[in-house]
Amino acid sequence: MIIRKKIWPHTLSDFLSMTFILTIVPLIYWFELWVVLPAVYGFGSLSYTLNFLLGSFIMLNIVGNFTYIVFCDTSTGRDIMPISAANTKDGWRLCASCETLAPPRSWHCPTCNTCILKRDHHCIFTGCCIGHYNHRYFIMFLLYLFIATTYSFCFNNIFIWNRIHFEFPMSIIKIVFPLAIFVFGFDGSIDQFYLLLYIVSAVGMLYTGVLCIYHFGLMFNGNVANESNKKIHTYNLGFKQNIKEVLGEQWYLAWILPYINSQLPHNGVIWDTLNTWHYSNPKSK
Ligand SMILES: [Zn+2]
Ligand SMILES: [Zn+2]
Repeated sequence: MIIRKKIWPHTLSDFLSMTFILTIVPLIYWFELWVVLPAVYGFGSLSYTLNFLLGSFIMLNIVGNFTYIVFCDTSTGRDIMPISAANTKDGWRLCASCETLAPPRSWHCPTCNTCILKRDHHCIFTGCCIGHYNHRYFIMFLLYLFIATTYSFCFNNIFIWNRIHFEFPMSIIKIVFPLAIFVFGFDGSIDQFYLLLYIVSAVGMLYTGVLCIYHFGLMFNGNVANESNKKIHTYNLGFKQNIKEVLGEQWYLAWILPYINSQLPHNGVIWDTLNTWHYSNPKSK
C-alpha cells in the first residue's frame, strides 16, 4: 500500500465529521462492552466473554478499515502514468486542475485537489476520497459499522427498557428528538446519557443500512457512484468479477480482516470492458 501524504482533513465539514466518528465509535464500544453486556449477562460469564470477543473483533475491523481508508493513497499521483497508453477513445482526459493526463474512470476531487483512480466519492467521515485502492476498506468499514450498530441495537433494547420507565408521550419525544433530552429535563442521570447512546446506535443502524444497500449495489453492478448516475455500464464484468474488482482475488478472505492481502485484478489505470475481459479470459465466458 502506498501511504497518502496529506491525511489531515481539508475542510471544516471533513474535520467535524471525522471528529464525530472518532468520538462516537469508541464511546459506543465502551458502552456496549463495559455497561450493557455486564448488565445483561454479568461479568465473566461464558455469554459475556463470547460477546465481548465478538464485539472486539467487529471493533478491530471498524478501526482497521478506517485506518486503511485514511492512509491509502488512491490518487493518480501515486504511480507514473503510462502516457503512451493514453487514448481519449478509452476515456483518458486532460485534467485542467492537475494539468496532467488522467486515466479512464478517474475524476478530479476539488477537496483533495487531485485526481482519484476509479473515484467513487469524497467521504467526509474519513476526510478523503474513496477510489480504486481503498474501495475494499470502505465497503468493509460500512458493513462492519452496520453489523456493529445492529448488534448494539439488539442488546440496547434489552438493557434500556429494563432500566428506563416508559412514559407516554415524553419517552417518545426523547427518542424521536434526541436533543429534547436536554430541553425537557436532563437531570444529570446517567440513564439519559444511555438513552442518547441508544438513539445514536438506532440512527446509525438505519443510516449505515441504507448506505450498505446503495454501495453494495454499486459494487455488484461494477459501477462507481458517478458512472451509475450517468448510466455507464462499460465496466460491468459480471457479478463475481465485479466483487473481485473491489475486494480482490482473495475476496472470500478479504472480508475477515483488512490486514489480509488480496490483490486487485486491475491497476486502476488500464481497464477491461466486458469485450476485452472475455477476450483475455476466455474461461470467464
Ligand atoms: Zn485532477
Ligand atoms: Zn476527495
